[in-house]
Amino acid sequence: MAKIPINLQTGSIEEKDEGDIIVGIDLGTTNSLVAYIKDGEPTAVRDTSGSNALVPSVIHFGELGKISVGNDAREQLISDPEHTIYSVKRLMGKSYRDVENIEGFFGYKIIDEDTDSLVKIRVENRFYTPIELSAEILKQLKTRIESALDRTVTKAVITVPAYFNDAQRQATRDAGKLAGLDVLRIVNEPTAASLAYGLNNQSETAQKIAVYDLGGGTFDISILEIHDGIFEVLSTNGDTFLGGDDIDQFIIDYWLDINGKSKEDILNDKSKVQALRLMAERAKKALSSSDQFKDHVGFLNCQITRETLEQLIANFVQKTLDCCQRALQDAKLQASDIDHVVMVGGSTRIPYIKSAVGAFFGREVYDKLNPDEVVALGAAIQADILAGNQKDILLLDITPLSLGIETMGGLMDVIIPRNSKVPARAGRQYTTSIDGQANLKISVFQGERDLVEHNRKLGEFILRGIPPMPAGLPKIEIHFILDADGILLVKAKELRSEVEQSIEIRSQYGLSEEEMALMLLESIKHAESDMAVRALLEARNEANNILLSAAKFLQQHREILSEEEYATTEQLTAKLRTAVQGEDKDYINEVMEELNAYTSPLAHRAMDKTIAEAMRGKKID
Ligand code: ADP
Ligand code: MG
Repeated sequence: MAKIPINLQTGSIEEKDEGDIIVGIDLGTTNSLVAYIKDGEPTAVRDTSGSNALVPSVIHFGELGKISVGNDAREQLISDPEHTIYSVKRLMGKSYRDVENIEGFFGYKIIDEDTDSLVKIRVENRFYTPIELSAEILKQLKTRIESALDRTVTKAVITVPAYFNDAQRQATRDAGKLAGLDVLRIVNEPTAASLAYGLNNQSETAQKIAVYDLGGGTFDISILEIHDGIFEVLSTNGDTFLGGDDIDQFIIDYWLDINGKSKEDILNDKSKVQALRLMAERAKKALSSSDQFKDHVGFLNCQITRETLEQLIANFVQKTLDCCQRALQDAKLQASDIDHVVMVGGSTRIPYIKSAVGAFFGREVYDKLNPDEVVALGAAIQADILAGNQKDILLLDITPLSLGIETMGGLMDVIIPRNSKVPARAGRQYTTSIDGQANLKISVFQGERDLVEHNRKLGEFILRGIPPMPAGLPKIEIHFILDADGILLVKAKELRSEVEQSIEIRSQYGLSEEEMALMLLESIKHAESDMAVRALLEARNEANNILLSAAKFLQQHREILSEEEYATTEQLTAKLRTAVQGEDKDYINEVMEELNAYTSPLAHRAMDKTIAEAMRGKKID
């Protein structure tokens, strides 16, 4: 689709001289930045002083509605905590319920409402959505690159953690729109990082890469395979509640401890909490290059050695390695199968973390590129690919949870399995279970359990106007189309009549990564009992089908059956009907067998008769 730029003031058609530019944006929890391809090289856009590319993801609401973003806003964390918003990415696509446990983490006000509706943030008497707040950060980045390049920029690729679900991706897209950016693609951060390292052109043979991304608020591990210029994400794992912020908290707790203070002592003094946060971060960064740190906040002694820090974070680091282990398992790989380990995120500057990750994978890690910038640089490369400038790279992502529909008896029928490559398209045929059924409800679920009641419902719709047909005759094709951003389109079509219906799934609010991990764990834990339940439900479904055809058979072929045959068939169907009520799948199968064995010669006889009748009706000459 061609777009014609019209200058709204003059009404004239703008000359399109420079060609399209698409920028790459890393919209981070802690820091955000924008990059573009300058003379063929991905380049992060720096501030006017040329020193810093990172824009702290902090928004301050000042007097008379003046909004500032970035370093200026960050400075207000201490002086004006109630009007200073940070870590808003943690709230993207989340409901109040999703975040109630972590509310204490924020120095600002999340409106306190115990519902499933999306979270809002209160500043004085205005409410802001995380989308609006993220849009402020994006506007700042847009302004920054526009003044650096002296031209308007309207197209972007934005990165998100690999675990972001539909709602969170959609929220990110909406934030872009609100900031005046046409978001051409949402890309997973680890995918972008691997692009930045340009590992795609390194080798003829397939390479396996682990991307370890520890930022301020999130941890992501992704296992990628790269071959012939194609990136494929084999598996992902992680935790949105694991990051450098937590390390700062460990340090704060340690300082309170050595000063004989409790959390309650300072909790009411929001400025002090923030001052401690900033001091803890300073200490942490300092300890990445020196052995000890000494300072104070008020009368609090803020002293810590690298050795102590390493003790404080040992469990935390182990948690990230556990995630790595699970990601390897999902990819059916061993740590030794990994060819390259890429370090992403500011927190990977901590030497202890580098060496722990290196030891886990048994190899030296990649840390040449600036770990804060690498994602944005990759996003810029992705943008360049979309602009058509790099035709030989393809990107494939994967979906973290299975997608499917509810079938008879509440069973989950998976259509797109978890860890499928995205974009994905899959379809399957279904039919009706009742004669003359005109409507079919299609309920879409996400999750790994066998019963839909244990999975998460994404939406439902009704395929209406199926022409009257006997049960089992309509051919209803259900198609799942999952696009590159992870947004699902579900289509249902009755093939004989061409009746069609579709929905796009945009879940009302997101599933937190903890919930997602929980769903996976539960599915493993319950695999055995789920299997038993599934077997029972399947036996019941099959028995119900047989009961249906048996009833039909008795009705249609009464005249070819003897009294005794009729009575026995009825008796056996009654027995099966009772068995279906019970919980014993073996018994159901047994009675089903019995009924089948008894009725199949009768069915043959009925068939012979039908054929004979058909022959009789035919004129032979
Ligand atoms: P995000 O992707 O969450 O926006 P970044 O990749 O920008 O985060 O990483 C920010 C985190 O990195 C912060 O917690 C910050 O304190 C931490 N960080 C930055 N530099 C260092 C360093 N030298 N040593 C330890 N941690 C650091
Ligand atoms: Mg990041």
